[in-house]
Parts: sequence; C-alpha cells; structure tokens
Amino acid sequence: MKILFLDQSGNLGGAELCLLDIAKPYSDRSLVGLFVDGPFKSLLQQHHIPVEVLATQQITVRKQSNLLQALGSFQQIVPVIINVIKIARVYDLIYANTQKALVIGAIASFFTRRPLVYHLHDILSKEHFSETNRRIAVTLANRFASLVIANSQASQTAFIQAGGRPELTTVVYNGFNPKIYQPDVSDIKQLQQDLGLEGKFVVGHFSRLAPWKGQHILINAMTKCPPEVTAILVGDALFGEQEYVQQLHQQVANLELENRVKFLGFRSDIPQLMATCDLVAHTSTSPEPFGRVIVEAMLSGKPVVAAKAGGATELVEHGVNGFLVEAGEPQELAQVINTCLVEREQSQTIANHARMTASQRFDVTTINQQIAQLLAQY
Ligand code: UDP
Repeated sequence: MKILFLDQSGNLGGAELCLLDIAKPYSDRSLVGLFVDGPFKSLLQQHHIPVEVLATQQITVRKQSNLLQALGSFQQIVPVIINVIKIARVYDLIYANTQKALVIGAIASFFTRRPLVYHLHDILSKEHFSETNRRIAVTLANRFASLVIANSQASQTAFIQAGGRPELTTVVYNGFNPKIYQPDVSDIKQLQQDLGLEGKFVVGHFSRLAPWKGQHILINAMTKCPPEVTAILVGDALFGEQEYVQQLHQQVANLELENRVKFLGFRSDIPQLMATCDLVAHTSTSPEPFGRVIVEAMLSGKPVVAAKAGGATELVEHGVNGFLVEAGEPQELAQVINTCLVEREQSQTIANHARMTASQRFDVTTINQQIAQLLAQY
C-alpha cells in the first residue's frame, strides 16, 4: 500500500516521533508530506523515509485560533491543498497525523477519492483547542475520514464527546522499540560525569517546555525534597512558549535551586539521559493525550510518577507499575520523590515490573501490525 502521510510540524513532538515509527515499514513506497521545514524532516531523512515539504509559507492558524483567524489562514492553505491533491493521486491512502493535516487531507481526499485516515494525538477539549478548531476537526473527520486512530481512550472519549462518530474510532497506543532503552553503561557513566549528576538522586522531566506540561510543579516540589535530589529538565519550547521558559528560570533563581535544577534543552539522547535518572516525573496540569515519556521511562527500567489524568491513567497503575499523583500538586509529587529516595528497592521492583509489561504492551512491531491490519481494509 502506498501511503501519503501528512504532518504539519517540522519539530519533534510526540506525534512526529510516533509517525516516524509508523512510516518506517512503508518507506519504500510512501511519502511524508510536511507543511514546514525543520528537524523532523532531517530525522525522516536519516531513517531513509522519503519526505517533502509541501508548503512554501507557514500556516499560522493555532490550536486556540478563532473562526476569523482560521479563515484568515485560508490564503496560506490553498497552495498546499493544490500541491497535496496533485501528489495524492499516486498514493492509495492519505494518513493525516495532525489537525492541519486533517484539514488539508480531508479536502484532498474529497477531490482524489483516496481514503483518509486521521491519527488523533490530541484531547479535543477546550483546555487544548478553541471551539472553532474542535468543530472543524470533528466535522471533517466525521464527513471525510474512513478511520480515526485515537492514541488513547482519553483522546477517543474526548473526540466522541466533541461530536465525533464513535464507530469511526479505534484506539492504538504508540509503539516503541524496547532495545533502544538499554544504552551502554559507558555512555551513561560519561553523561553522569558531564552533567555533574554523580552521587545525586536524579529526577528527570522529559517534555517540551510549555505551561501545561507543568515543569513549574516539579521545581516547586524540589523545595520539599532533601538537597541530594537534583532535577534535569529535558526539552525546549517548541511552539513559542518563551515567556514560560523565562518564568521557569526565574522560579529556579527565586527558590535558589540553581545547583539542583538543570535545563538541558532539546536532546536526542533520551534513552541515555533516562538511564542517568533515579525517577522520571510527568507533571502535565491538563490531561495528557498519551504520554510517550511515561512509557519510555518504563522501558528504561526507571520508576515513573505521572499526573493522574487522561492517557496517563491508562498507562500507570499506582503502586503496580508506577505512581500517580493529583495533577498540579507539588506536595504530593514531593512525597513520591521522597518515598522513592528512601525506599529504592521497592520502587525498583515496581520499575522492573513496568519494564517487563511495557515492552510487551507497547512493542512497536505488534503496534505496526495492528495499524497495517487496520489500513488493509481500505
Ligand atoms: N523528547 C525528545 N527530546 C527532548 C524532550 C522530549 O526527543 O528534549 C521526546 C520524548 O522522549 C517523547 C516526546 O518527545 O518521546 C514527547 O512525547 P509526549 O507524548 O510525552 O508529549 P507531546 O510532545 O506529544 O505532547
């Protein structure tokens, strides 16, 4: 099957990293069409997956845009639509991986009569999307998509609650290659040395810097932990959240935590960095659609504490394969950190169990087979 994958982003968010794995088996007969240039294009090229940037200018409509702003972007969208329609004719199926990709994919699907699959990586709630954007997504998916792949039950439920047709949907979790999360011991030692983490109890936070990802909650929790607890914040502001980045630095300075909180920026060596951690914290203040970092922590054999909402509750069973805390509660988070610091053996047993179950439940080969079976129907 020849697939035209569409994704609006040039950056490496969770949806893009997921698409990388999905597109791999089709790399000899498919194309990933992006609407903007960026590191995602380079990563696809590194993996020998054909990729093309299909837009000549950026589409400026955002998740919270109103109807007027959405209509204003029409001029930017038209040339991309024309381009996609031309290209789509030589493919069997259009696979839209993001919201803007859905808009363009739906129109292209209509004109080329190619089936449209929408991979939903978002919770379509008002915390994340404007009313206009939710309505556009649901209306287009209902009218044009043959299948909506939701990345969790939480995303599926929100889609249906927003008016999406339930019979279109199916849940497929992100897939991972468990082997990647077993890095060389020498690499880990070197990193620990380079980052000055030796002898510390390291809490890792792996996420783009954005208010709803809740890095400020972890920084706050650090004040309630003993001095040997150090946090590494891995990730950058991918969508222009510079004000939040400044706030985080200010918060660290105000709390005099400069020696205990390290900002590492965007990194590509996530498995190695996770291996340097004693605990991985996920602190989203709004429900997380899936939460790749939670699974990655499990596959790394590290205890993980996650905010109890959205997809995270489908991944973590408290006390069994990780820990859940109320979202936005630094006190509760600090309690889990302190417990893991004191009861290392017990939390490692939980982490070992998580590693074993996650490597089966989220194995990329099985997940890709699941997707292949779904796509084979069209
Ligand atoms: N990530 C990364 N480098 C960073 C920070 C994060 O490669 O510096 C990866 C992380 O390992 C995870 C993904 O980005 O695979 C984020 O996915 P998640 O589902 O956690 O959040 P999203 O970006 O989709 O909101």
